Amino acid sequence: MAKPYDWIGHALQVVHQANWHRSPVTISSRADTVVKIDDRDTLMFASNNYLGLAGDPRLIEAAIAATQTYGTGATGSRLVSGHLDLHQELETAIASLKQTEAALVFSSGYLANLGAIASVVGARDLVLQDAYNHSCLKNGAILSGAQVITYSHANISSLARELEQHRDRYRRCLITTDTVFSMDGDLCPLGEIMDLADRYDCMVLVDEAHATGVFGDRGAGVTNALGINRPLIQVGTLSKALGSLGGYVAGSAELIDFLRNRAASWIYTTGLSPADTAAALAAVKIIQTEPQRRQQLWQNLTALKQALSAVQIEPFSTDSQIVALKVGDTTQTLNVAAYLRQNDIFAPAIRPPTVPTARIRLTLMATHTIEQIEALVNCLTKCQSELALS
Ligand SMILES: *Cc1c(COP(=O)(O)O)cnc(C)c1O
Repeated sequence: MAKPYDWIGHALQVVHQANWHRSPVTISSRADTVVKIDDRDTLMFASNNYLGLAGDPRLIEAAIAATQTYGTGATGSRLVSGHLDLHQELETAIASLKQTEAALVFSSGYLANLGAIASVVGARDLVLQDAYNHSCLKNGAILSGAQVITYSHANISSLARELEQHRDRYRRCLITTDTVFSMDGDLCPLGEIMDLADRYDCMVLVDEAHATGVFGDRGAGVTNALGINRPLIQVGTLSKALGSLGGYVAGSAELIDFLRNRAASWIYTTGLSPADTAAALAAVKIIQTEPQRRQQLWQNLTALKQALSAVQIEPFSTDSQIVALKVGDTTQTLNVAAYLRQNDIFAPAIRPPTVPTARIRLTLMATHTIEQIEALVNCLTKCQSELALS
């Protein structure tokens, strides 16, 4: 490559030397608990398809029918030529699920967070964020130009301390947090955060990416599970339990109308494809009418917890369907992930710099069988004795 690009090769070498290099694993079959990787049937414990809906015939049918009716692309941004009645239907369905006045669908959850955060705060404002927040919340805060302060993970006294010290020097304040944290699978202390927000006159933005479809009697997320109905900016994704692609913001009619006029990541991008929109709409209906999928998921979590404690493997948290396991240092964790792969089980090692300490990160699905969960724990146990881990 020409000289101005030489640095890329050098930068890649640094990534390799630090042992941080990553590349995607290729899957060549439909989303399910068993998928084809390198032509081998592999037990999947890393998918966000928590309710098994990404391979559900009803979503597939809805996507096909919408493609036949509307074509493959939305053909424009929503404010120009890309707003379909199907988008309206999906936004109404999300608002009804979330019990908010309105909702707005973005092309991804990442873009929903960037757009929402950068719209509601600016240079004279303060963002207080959890240290373990998802990348898009952190980048949204940077994009907004607001002062950003990070409080200790899920630590309410750390948040209170920062508010006490800094709140009065800023115009608006936005507290941002995942409700289910993506790497440890633990929950934020949402009730206490809401109380502090009231006391210090703050807005709160929650990211329900891993909670939508999974938590609450309607599947509306942690806000639903905790019965929180105070004003709130609720963000989520259509790409995890809902099995499609896209993101949403749910909240007051004024907030949504404001975002339609201000959120650059919504205004200047093409509307969600008809297929994705229709699949998500089908999923939003299914999560409300089939609570048994959530019950199945929680039964699987109970089975996994019991099997792990019987063999003394310690999870970081068992609050959610994301279960991260401590299995040693970075090298040991990589060895365990490789051993699992050799035995046709996919449960990757997540390591620094993504997380402070290495772990095997498991995600459960409602459609996993007890036998599949037992196969996983048996393999972990064998691996522990063979690799002589503590
Ligand atoms: C996956 C994820 C997102 C991004 O959602 P996409 O729709 O995949 O862009 C946002 N926040 C959290 C916490 C996530 O885990």
